[in-house]
Amino acid sequence: MSVTQNLLHIKQSLPAHVTLVAVSKTKPDALISEAYAAGQRDFGENYVQEVCDKQTRLPHDIHWHFIGHLQSNKVKYLAPFVYLIHGVDSFKLLQEINKQALKNGRVISCLLQVYIATEESKFGFNAEELLLCLNSDAFSQLKNIKVCGLMGMATNTEDKELIRKEFATLKSCFDACLNQVPASANLELKILSMGMSSDYEMAIQEGSTLVRIGSSIFGERHYPNA
Ligand SMILES: *Cc1c(COP(=O)(O)O)cnc(C)c1O
Repeated sequence: MSVTQNLLHIKQSLPAHVTLVAVSKTKPDALISEAYAAGQRDFGENYVQEVCDKQTRLPHDIHWHFIGHLQSNKVKYLAPFVYLIHGVDSFKLLQEINKQALKNGRVISCLLQVYIATEESKFGFNAEELLLCLNSDAFSQLKNIKVCGLMGMATNTEDKELIRKEFATLKSCFDACLNQVPASANLELKILSMGMSSDYEMAIQEGSTLVRIGSSIFGERHYPNA
């Protein structure tokens, strides 16, 4: 199956309220251009250097989603063009995004990452930290970011019921924030980013509004140094 066929097949299976981000990390421009020609505009990348290079070469109406783990000292490279930063996992990172957005005369949309997996290596806030952060004075002072929702990654496991439980946890966290934190100039929770190639159907059943799909569109990834 070609990229175009994969993409159209997945798109047609998604409910209208679910956004598809095509995860193009490690993939060449030619495959991204093929997806673009088929109408795809939202692409997800994990590596700062790679997305910066790609955005200079590829059409400027692409929405570049940064879905990887972001270090504070690299925010400045993304700030001029990034469309949505998914994995914001600390208040310090949010402050740095705000600072760089201000320098660029922009308001940058962000998703806060919630820790839902049982693995030690995953990043994110827990439910309690999230409510504290969103309700704080310090947060209300960040005028150049907009928190548009939450993102989470389930445990990398074959255990489907565990994954479902983790997605349900993220959804209840999202609902708790909606109910307990009033919307404001820099907070409007609309997006729940959860689900990848192997589990996006389940994620949608559990309330996802944005899925991040890579290998089911572009094929398996090969890491040169892995
Ligand atoms: C790589 C990646 C994806 C896409 O994974 P696939 O299994 O190829 O669909 C989704 N989300 C994040 C955060 C990723 O790093």
